[in-house]
Amino acid sequence: MDPRRDIWDLIDRGDVEELLHRAAVLHGHYCPGLALGVKGGYELVKRLDLKSEGMEDVLAVVETNNCASDGVQFVTGCSFGNNSLIFKDLGKTAFTLSDRDGKGLRARVVNKASEYWEEKAEEFSDLYEKVVDKREGDEEDKEELMSTSEKASLAVINTDVGKIFDFEDVEIKIPDYAPIHDSYICDICGEKVMATRTVKKDGEIYCLECAEEGYSKLTGYGIERK
Ligand SMILES: [Zn+2]
Ligand SMILES: [Zn+2]
Repeated sequence: MDPRRDIWDLIDRGDVEELLHRAAVLHGHYCPGLALGVKGGYELVKRLDLKSEGMEDVLAVVETNNCASDGVQFVTGCSFGNNSLIFKDLGKTAFTLSDRDGKGLRARVVNKASEYWEEKAEEFSDLYEKVVDKREGDEEDKEELMSTSEKASLAVINTDVGKIFDFEDVEIKIPDYAPIHDSYICDICGEKVMATRTVKKDGEIYCLECAEEGYSKLTGYGIERK
């Protein structure tokens, strides 16, 4: 049984608004960014007719770790955890979907896209700046931002797709299926760790943290080397 059949049904029926509500369960709030990911992801799945089984059969590429990436993961079924998501740390709101032949479709949010939701939810930008950018808003401002955010995200969903996205055919380099690695036990902390994330020193095996070696970390700032 396909656990995502409800989602595919919504896509087949073109119910993008309901997809937004479902994706918000994952994302935690409504915002235009999430809506862009939902709408873009929906268009890519529909145009390519690619319904992922979550087994690296379909791959999505996101080019920044902003709100939109949650919408893309939710709607395409290509996620961080099922190894079907490729993260390019480029800071662009653009997404690609492809099957394993590497012939993908890229949806890029056009530079003027925000005009369309700002028109329908005028207060959004000022409230966002006050509450999120400057962290100055009080409880009332926060609540108002939340309801304006929902209005702005619905405006994204209901704007003609051609005004928000540019689409282009792209070739992407498909990575091999994610490898299955042995696990070792770190000789210092005693925790089980993937073999490729260990170092050997004087015949002992250490995890990167205990060995005080550098490792990559994904945070709100993108991929950082610690
Ligand atoms: Zn968001
Ligand atoms: Zn350790």
